[in-house]
Amino acid sequence: MKKNIKVPAKIVGIIGHPVSHTFSPQIHETAFKLTKQNYTYQVFDVHPKNVRDALRGIVALGIVGLNVTVPHKESVLEFLDEISADARLVGAVNCIHCDNETLIGYNTDIYGALETLKPYREKIMGEPVTVFGAGGGARAVIYTLVTYFKPSQIFVVNRDISRAEILKKFFADSQNYFNIKVIELHNPDENLAIDASRLVINATPVGMYPNIGESIILSDSRDLEGKIFFDLIYNPVETEFLKIAREKNAIAIGGIEMLYQQAAKAFEIWTGVPMPIEKVRAKLDTSLFNQTKRRV
Ligand code: NAP
Repeated sequence: MKKNIKVPAKIVGIIGHPVSHTFSPQIHETAFKLTKQNYTYQVFDVHPKNVRDALRGIVALGIVGLNVTVPHKESVLEFLDEISADARLVGAVNCIHCDNETLIGYNTDIYGALETLKPYREKIMGEPVTVFGAGGGARAVIYTLVTYFKPSQIFVVNRDISRAEILKKFFADSQNYFNIKVIELHNPDENLAIDASRLVINATPVGMYPNIGESIILSDSRDLEGKIFFDLIYNPVETEFLKIAREKNAIAIGGIEMLYQQAAKAFEIWTGVPMPIEKVRAKLDTSLFNQTKRRV
């Protein structure tokens, strides 16, 4: 009698610390089902002191791919065999593919930011931009802006001014982009920067679950009509930053679109199959939104 032998699922997942806020498992598991791929997506909470061992374990355990989230996006670079050109330029990796025991690092946040901003190309091309934050997310978004949208000026507003200065030097050295002006968070100049900008981006975790009442910009009386506000945060889907923007007549874009787009790119790198993003979105949008509300 023939035995029904089940082929074990290929393993992909995410490393971060903490990592409980992630929506990536729902997105990828839904896409695996829709495309009938025999994969499973696991969440690994990896302490920074264990990153090296975790990456060694990928090959040993036969793990096919990993997403990388805060705080490991920069520290994983030194443990990889190959790094894509744009991930190397940005200095951050958020997706690893283990191909024939070779660990290859990518930055699919760049693609995610590009796809999210593309519909607004005409409004933002060549225009001044303000970016709050100077971490991995900010670097990916600024790389996308400089490469594809040629902003006339980028104001980088950050709490730690020296980190923003390093970012400024990084883009001057690697991209010949010299139009970054650094502003310390809560310096009055940040309001002048917002006034001067067509696009305002939050690339900090301020307002992210569980601190959902917070916003990096304050609700004052200024009219923001004609401006575009983009929050990288996706949990909650509707952040305080976006609420303020909408109330002041600005266009508000949440981080969920970038999350879907960066996930789609990672999915294709791992499986070789495109993610049916609209079908995934149709299945998940309501449940992610409800999950956010439940957590609140
Ligand atoms: P990161 O590398 O740790 O950088 C965090 C940045 O936020 C730093 O500039 C930091 O300033 C600033 N910051 C942190 N806490 C702050 C506070 N309480 N007040 C003011 N500034 C603060 O993190 P990241 O990878 O860039 O991620 C930032 C956010 O973007 C997270 O919420 C993440 O989930 C989101 N993100 C979303 C996507 C997506 O697909 N939607 C992709 C990437 C990132 P200092 O330098 O002063 O510490």
